[in-house]
Amino acid sequence: MEADGKGNTRMRMARGGLATWALAAMALAFASPATASGDDDARGSLRFGGDAGYPPYHFLDSRGHADGFDVELARAVADDLGLEPVFELGDWSAALERLARDEVDIVPMFWSAERERRFPMSDPILLRHHALFGHFETPTLESLEGLANARVAVQRSGLAWEAMHELDRAGVTLVELDNEGETLAAVARGDADYALAPTGIGYHAIQRDDLHGLVALSPPLLERKYVFAVAPERPELVPEINGALERLRRDGVQNRLYVEWIGSPMAPGTGDPAGTAHPSRLAAVAAAGFLLLAALALLAWRHRRARHAAAPSAPAGATPADAPLLAELREAIARHELGFALQPKVDLRSGRWLGAEMLVRWEHPRLGALEPDDFVPLAEQANAIGEMTLYLVRQGLEQCRNWPDTGDPLHVSINVSANDLADPHLVDAIIEASRGSVPGLMLEITETEVMREPGRVAEALPRLRAHGIRISVDDFGAGHSSLVNLRRLAPDELKIDRSFVRALPDSHSDGAIVRASIRLGHELGASVAAEGVEDEAIRRWLVEAGCDAGQGFGIARPMPAAEFVELLRRQG
Ligand code: C2E
Ligand code: CA
Ligand code: CA
Repeated sequence: MEADGKGNTRMRMARGGLATWALAAMALAFASPATASGDDDARGSLRFGGDAGYPPYHFLDSRGHADGFDVELARAVADDLGLEPVFELGDWSAALERLARDEVDIVPMFWSAERERRFPMSDPILLRHHALFGHFETPTLESLEGLANARVAVQRSGLAWEAMHELDRAGVTLVELDNEGETLAAVARGDADYALAPTGIGYHAIQRDDLHGLVALSPPLLERKYVFAVAPERPELVPEINGALERLRRDGVQNRLYVEWIGSPMAPGTGDPAGTAHPSRLAAVAAAGFLLLAALALLAWRHRRARHAAAPSAPAGATPADAPLLAELREAIARHELGFALQPKVDLRSGRWLGAEMLVRWEHPRLGALEPDDFVPLAEQANAIGEMTLYLVRQGLEQCRNWPDTGDPLHVSINVSANDLADPHLVDAIIEASRGSVPGLMLEITETEVMREPGRVAEALPRLRAHGIRISVDDFGAGHSSLVNLRRLAPDELKIDRSFVRALPDSHSDGAIVRASIRLGHELGASVAAEGVEDEAIRRWLVEAGCDAGQGFGIARPMPAAEFVELLRRQG
């Protein structure tokens, strides 16, 4: 499973700012005179302070808007109390002081005895943990007591920092940083031996910043309640906030936000699943027995599919066991709950972004983040693929209209199936949706799919092409298409399957296949893209072999749309 490459996102694009927080944090001055207001103009408002870069809890997105679990919960609390929420996110090390000075009303934070002496606190909004992170060769530790002569990176004035100060730290050097995510980067650079960071934040940083080789080296430590701390001069807010939290819990709002942001169906207050494990079907099953049935149905379906994969056949009807999942998928499409990640595609020679491929994502309310392989074939079997494709084309092109002009002709690539192209109404709808769209649209169809319906696919192509829509043959090399067919298709792009790319430059046979594919693509007048470019050695090999474009974890992982916009902006 490639869980770390998923770039999970949902149509709620506000959530897309996860990795742009650093930029946003730099761009935003913390205490501008306008926001550091006195009591008078604050009447009727609930002023929320905190870190500008603390996803998924609270952060500023790429447009500088506050978002995250804590932010939405605070919004709901303010709404319940009839107050206007005001968000003043910035430098974490200043947040506690601002709260102490009554410049903000609430700041979400870990509970600690020291903090409780300084601030009135709400009931817990979550239970969370820390862990020690480090290189996988570094010794594992059962507790903080075992740290000796080590350099430990912590966020200044964070809970880890407080815990380390309470400890007898003979020989331990503290490396103090402004942001918890940075503590892991410090270990990766060799500036510290361990990072003591919240588990969710730690895994998030490893995934987002590609800090491969870093792992959790301790069990979950420092179990703490996560609360809203309140300005000392406003203790009367505590019972009001608690009342609102109780109502939000009862109405399921708190749970919904939890599932949405932290990604697991566990009840709030029962753990930090984003920390103890990646949100996954397994975590979901462990958390709630009643989900087992659904998960088993999914597994059974996967096995069935694996058995039939060797001999692709005409789509059959979905089986009864798939019916609930299929119904939910249809509902998710109708309610615009399906999301997508964008994986950038680069010009291998110039290094400039050419566009991105849209990869569908489904954050299932109970089963967690499902992979495309878990539901795309199901949609295909049940003839729901057209609905999904059209939805993604519309949503994708809508998003891409916001892409900044980089001076390059950009395109968005969308995966389609043979069934899609065999449906003339759907082809019409795709053409209609792409009319006047900037950037261009490229449809990716796998070589296997082309071979399944060569006649019908070939029929659709001239119509698409006449409207400027380009065609890429995906997973090229894995599907035995005949030269006759390829010539008939006249694709604009051949996309070499990642199974041939990954073992480069060492595998002689894969190298020969890739070289031959590049030559063939060029002879057909197509540009050639390689997927699965996982490192620099592969990229260099491909440049030398004359490959035009590349895509892969070594270049960029699938990411939220807003993050891709940031990449383009920097290129612009
Ligand atoms: P694909 O079209 O070959 O898409 C690329 C897949 O490779 C993505 O997985 C991507 O995360 C993964 N990938 C990208 N770079 C690397 C790399 O360097 N190494 C490795 N090992 N993997 C890499 P994802 O998102 O799980 O998609 C899986 C497949 O599901 C796609 O394969 C595509 O066939 C299908 N799919 C995804 N989105 C859609 C969609 O919107 N519609 C349809 N019909 N199919 C989709
Ligand atoms: Ca593809
Ligand atoms: Ca592919």
